[in-house]
Amino acid sequence: MSKKVRVRIAPSPTGDPHVGTAYIGLFNYAFAHHEGGEFILRIEDTDRTRFSSDSEQQIFDAMKWLGLNYSEGPDNGGEYGPYRQSERFNIYKKYALELVEKGEAYYSFETPEELEIMKERQKAMGLPPMYDRRSRNLSKEVIEENLAKGMPYVIRMKMPLEGQTVVEDQLRGKIFFDNDKIDDQVLLKSDGFPTYHLANIVDDHLMGITHVIRAEEWIASTPKHIQLYRAFGWEEPKWYHMPLLRNADKTKISKRKNPVSLNYYKEEGYLKEGLLNFLALMGWSLGGEKEIFTLQEMIDNFSFDRISLGGPVFDLVKLAWVNNQHMRLKDIKDLTDLAIPFIDKQGFDISKFSREKLERMVEISREGTHTLKELAQSLDVFFEDEFTLPVVTEDMNKKERKSVERVLEALASEEGKKSINLFIEKLNNFDEEINEEEIKDILHKLPEELNEGIGKVLMPLRAAITGKSKGPDLYSIISVIGKERTLNRIKNVF
Ligand code: GLU
Repeated sequence: MSKKVRVRIAPSPTGDPHVGTAYIGLFNYAFAHHEGGEFILRIEDTDRTRFSSDSEQQIFDAMKWLGLNYSEGPDNGGEYGPYRQSERFNIYKKYALELVEKGEAYYSFETPEELEIMKERQKAMGLPPMYDRRSRNLSKEVIEENLAKGMPYVIRMKMPLEGQTVVEDQLRGKIFFDNDKIDDQVLLKSDGFPTYHLANIVDDHLMGITHVIRAEEWIASTPKHIQLYRAFGWEEPKWYHMPLLRNADKTKISKRKNPVSLNYYKEEGYLKEGLLNFLALMGWSLGGEKEIFTLQEMIDNFSFDRISLGGPVFDLVKLAWVNNQHMRLKDIKDLTDLAIPFIDKQGFDISKFSREKLERMVEISREGTHTLKELAQSLDVFFEDEFTLPVVTEDMNKKERKSVERVLEALASEEGKKSINLFIEKLNNFDEEINEEEIKDILHKLPEELNEGIGKVLMPLRAAITGKSKGPDLYSIISVIGKERTLNRIKNVF
């Protein structure tokens, strides 16, 4: 029987939770669930200089928001804990010393100044900067003497000096690295803290990680990791290096060119379903033409065969489209619940409307909007009775100018006045609660009764009731705001 799948993400808490963490998290999660395995969160906080205290909590929150729930982690525990590297420091030192004992690692006593000189010299000679391995063969006596004197030291990995290390990447095939070009990597720093390489490998081993699914940028570190597994005599996991998310210019995604914080996507009102679907599409396809799918569909159909390695461009326009599709698919009650905080943030008073009407306006508006924030912003037609008519300003583009002109022309036109008067007359025959069908019927008949084109009749009404030239269907707006407010709006305009 094959071993139970155990995978992990291992983010470093150095700032806002990164969209790349969600991307890699998603693939690990989908694979784990497809295989009936475990998905684990480990916090790699060994680099204390870059640590920021609330960013760990933000990672937990972001993963919870996305529903990428981990079965083991710093905040929910598990059998293989602790899951925070800063709580495991004694473990790493023990393993570093074990490698020294086995002759696979060594003490290195150079001062930072000496290393600097070494680097300068290599630079002057046109060589790549690399530790020249000068402490690799120190005698036992010298080492003991130095340690007894309390000389600061690091522990370095003894890389093989010849041959090649083969990274067997499950997505890319074999990648070969010449051993003599791989640095004798520092494993334990002079302050006793481990480096990423040591802590990562010790933890993956002790936590029983079977598959490492991580970003492409770690490929260059993998030969060191493989050599560490060999030195310890441990079995290496299977490696999968996912294509990096990229800016439009194909550089690695960066905050100067794209929003990278998961907080941004949450605050803008992207649905978790939309963001996950979009991230899935960055590296994978469900097969066929189907681009819109749920996390469960991804899990059910997950296979590494359908990963594409071309550098996926992180395209916000595509994300907006995907998110809109998920807004349309969402149960209207759930979508309304999610939209309410955004509506509140717009300063709109939801107590003006029944729950039923609130749901109806969310339903009407979701078609043409891409995020919950956009949806909430578009609800001004329902909430704002006292709008001022738009005016043409200098900074408007042609399209905006045209749209304002249409509103003003429609209101000023003779046909417009007739249309509005007839509409008022008809509306007055109804009670406050007039339904969509009834309004549809009135609007439908107006052009014929006035013997005018639809646009000439309806545009003035839309302009008088909403102050805009475009928006959701007019009959839906009128039925949501009711007769009284519709009439008041018209009165305000004239
Ligand atoms: N701490 C590393 C990161 O921030 C982990 C990389 C890995 O998965 O090995 O991505």
